[in-house]
Amino acid sequence: MSNTNDNQFDYPYEKVFDYNVIRRGLWEDSPPPAYSPQMVARHTETVAESQWVKPTRSCLHDMVLGQTNGWPANPDYPDDPEIPPQDIYAYQITDTSAEPEVKMVIASGNHPGEFSGNWLLQGMVNFLAGDDDRAAALRKKASFFVYPDVNPDGRYQAVHRIDLEAAPSPNPKEGFGRRFDNFPDTDPGRGNPELYIAGEADHNRVWNTNDRFRHIDLIKRAMKADTGGKVDYFWDFHGPQEPGNWRSPQGEPAWNSPYGQALQAREPDVVIAGLPNGFKSGLSYQPGKLSVWAATNEGLCADYTYVYEPGGWTETRLKEAGRNLALALYDVLAGDG
Ligand SMILES: [Zn+2]
Repeated sequence: MSNTNDNQFDYPYEKVFDYNVIRRGLWEDSPPPAYSPQMVARHTETVAESQWVKPTRSCLHDMVLGQTNGWPANPDYPDDPEIPPQDIYAYQITDTSAEPEVKMVIASGNHPGEFSGNWLLQGMVNFLAGDDDRAAALRKKASFFVYPDVNPDGRYQAVHRIDLEAAPSPNPKEGFGRRFDNFPDTDPGRGNPELYIAGEADHNRVWNTNDRFRHIDLIKRAMKADTGGKVDYFWDFHGPQEPGNWRSPQGEPAWNSPYGQALQAREPDVVIAGLPNGFKSGLSYQPGKLSVWAATNEGLCADYTYVYEPGGWTETRLKEAGRNLALALYDVLAGDG
């Protein structure tokens, strides 16, 4: 059997800044490099070379669903830089010759400074699109719908460390703080300028809105059209968080599902949030979370919806964890036992 490298889709990247600039993951020994919008584009283009990767049906061209609004220059705030409209990417990984029945959505980028989620996504995608025999078997059973950055304006802002005076976060504790002066007490925000000006501080609390944020509407519409409005599994990648953990707003039925159990076997040391004595127990229902929207009838009717918050992990460990998310599904759908 071939069990070859799933690093074939890796690409050279520049470390665009270090964690002395973005104060995220400073408690980590070896924080992963920042994951910029350019890296999302480059990885998408690289993985698109795989014969198993194609645009989703909602893509306008290549792997692009459309563009964000960006943030225009404003003469009233001459120090604020412009955020150019950003491409919103989507693609599908599948073996259409086999008519796979299971659908899994993979998303990342909700929170701009949470680069760990994108390394996780890269590791999972590299395995799924690669030439490992288990990936090949899995592609015959399942289709994967990938949305690698669902908040591109926020990510652009995070990696450029822009604290827009015209659009500060309504929650300063979670915003960039005041421009540079109060650094290093600032932290990447959880939204983007368009959300902040609308009074919203957190990009993962607005997925139940309609007609408020064009890119939210566009991504939700695409996810529904791409998948047919019904999926089996849904992943939203975040992190870092200490301790690293995965969880589900659905609770026990999700973490003790066959897939949840397979994941526990693949990653026995990773905490499941909400288990007895586990971290972050008693999760409250927050309808604006992407993982919650995905489970609703208005969303994707996901049978199982999950959030991953890896913590304190290197780039290598994050990619391995992403691969294990795919291998756990292989164990359930295509494995020997
Ligand atoms: Zn997050």
